[in-house]
Amino acid sequence: MANHRWFVTAQYVEWAKPADSRVWIAQEPRRVARSLAHAKTVGTVLTACGLRASSWEKLWGCAFPPDEGDICQQCVRIVARAEARTTAWAF
Ligand SMILES: [Zn+2]
Repeated sequence: MANHRWFVTAQYVEWAKPADSRVWIAQEPRRVARSLAHAKTVGTVLTACGLRASSWEKLWGCAFPPDEGDICQQCVRIVARAEARTTAWAF
């Protein structure tokens, strides 16, 4: 699916290094989380796990969960549950 409801947000991000380009080549913008990666969706200032992320960096091009780096496990659980619920509604 081209669209994703959940994307990565983090307090600190950095530009992906050339060594990481195989992973991020298709991602725009090519930035990666340097701190814990949380999940966020549009229409709220909170992360999936309930943290205020209004001043955090938003990696719109990076679907959550990302392929690498430290990932918030609470966000992983909440997103998985939300996705399961959405799928159930679709049928
Ligand atoms: Zn989180």
